[in-house]
Amino acid sequence: MNTAAIQALRPLLSTSRKIVLVPHKNPDGDAIGSCLGLYHYLRALGHQATVVAPNDFPQFLKWMPGAEAVLVYEKDPRAGKAAIADAELVFTLDFNALDRCGDLQVPLQKASATFIMIDHHQSPDNYAQVQYSDVQMSSTCEMVYNTIEALGGLDLLDAGAASCLYAGMLTDTGSFKFPGTTPRTMRVAADLMERGAPHSEIHRNIYDTNRPQRLQLLGRALSNLVILPEYRTAYITLSQEELDAHGFQKGDTEGFVNYGLSVDGVVLAAIFIENRDEKIVKISLRSQGDFSVNDMARKHFNGGGHINAAGGRSEESLKDTTERFERILATYKNELQAS
Ligand code: 5GP
Ligand code: MN
Repeated sequence: MNTAAIQALRPLLSTSRKIVLVPHKNPDGDAIGSCLGLYHYLRALGHQATVVAPNDFPQFLKWMPGAEAVLVYEKDPRAGKAAIADAELVFTLDFNALDRCGDLQVPLQKASATFIMIDHHQSPDNYAQVQYSDVQMSSTCEMVYNTIEALGGLDLLDAGAASCLYAGMLTDTGSFKFPGTTPRTMRVAADLMERGAPHSEIHRNIYDTNRPQRLQLLGRALSNLVILPEYRTAYITLSQEELDAHGFQKGDTEGFVNYGLSVDGVVLAAIFIENRDEKIVKISLRSQGDFSVNDMARKHFNGGGHINAAGGRSEESLKDTTERFERILATYKNELQAS
């Protein structure tokens, strides 16, 4: 790993500190897993650590040890602000621009703490005094493991901490199948298993705890699938009415976008999800091969991410957004056909 970052971290952690760990808004398995994995390690080292999440996270991640102690800023802004104002160190995990934290960015910008970024997304902003940024990494959880290893602290990882890190690696690698999964990723996962992470139970907790309504929502999403062979693209839409009709809960649409990519010949998949409360359409993009959805999300949808997985938003209606998407696709036609 980045040895300069680790050398900078060592003295910061040499005495007991007040530490806040922050995941991005709408935290996924890697964001919550990396925060909780590091949280357990820091507490075992004798620090006072608190995870402050911008908003709540899905039910299928609530089994993680420590999840009950996560302070959700949207529910309790006063406590969130106080923890951040009081912090000596703030770890920002699984994102690299403070605007990824929604309203939580305001107290973060005012904080006097030293900021430490651990992240694997492209084009990091320059807000952290200590920056461990590596776009080659399959997950932030793997980077947290690297950090703890470099600090000589692996013996402090108990089964609970190992489970959190394993869970984030599992979700961000698509169950260890995405191209970013390396032999090292598998070795780290194996070590976490040896430290007590129950891999089969973790998989079940994350993927096999569906409510029937969620599966019915998936059915609706799949019947809305549009395939555009000329652009080797497939996209799904879900309107607010469709979400409401299926008792939508946070996290229900996780993974839906991948079904588009499973269509033979498709190299670009998208999902457009209406969010009437926020007056936006949330967009997830996925690609296979060299086509960069990070570029597309940055250029057209006020977002970003990785080459093969990115997200963004639109402030137009669902219909206007998909029409614009189809016009944008025309400008990438050659690239998509060559992918
Ligand atoms: P998802 O589509 O699963 O929400 O996110 C895919 C990837 O894109 C994740 O790595 C996530 O952090 C990133 N991402 C999702 N939405 C946004 C966004 O609005 N802005 C930026 N910069 N990245 C995003
Ligand atoms: Mn991640």
